[in-house]
Amino acid sequence: MSGKFRIGFGYDVHRFAEGRKLILGGVEIPHDKGLLGHSDADALLHSITDALLGALALGDIGRHFPDTDPLNKNKASKVFLKYAYDLVVEKGFSLSNIDATIVTEKPKLLPYIESIRKNIAGILGVETEKISVKATTSERMGFVGSGEGLKVYSVVLIEKSGS
Ligand code: MG
Repeated sequence: MSGKFRIGFGYDVHRFAEGRKLILGGVEIPHDKGLLGHSDADALLHSITDALLGALALGDIGRHFPDTDPLNKNKASKVFLKYAYDLVVEKGFSLSNIDATIVTEKPKLLPYIESIRKNIAGILGVETEKISVKATTSERMGFVGSGEGLKVYSVVLIEKSGS
């Protein structure tokens, strides 16, 4: 695959629902609602997975893990992330860095950001300083502002290994 560097962008949205755990970046976050989805609905890991697949121009998470496949039901999303990063390594690249922003009105995520960064670094087997996770609100506007759901944007940069 050509290029010394390749960039990828990911975006994901999930709806909040009662009776679900809130899992972001593989970390369970105490909240009265969780995210609805076929897998564990970890929008942060889905967004980063899509960014990694995008950097390789290999489509999106839905192409590799269809939500119509019962095998993907309630699956831990770190499986998707690991799969995408294995492809990155297979193609001769390694992670330069990830920068992700979670947009949600509630809960306040600051106390969990460090554990989330460490957890993602652990899944990928890279240094924590390569993983940036930020959180912001939607200033009470739109579906995020009303607490209906949350969204995550991610960018990744990968570089040819040994370069
Ligand atoms: Mg998703």
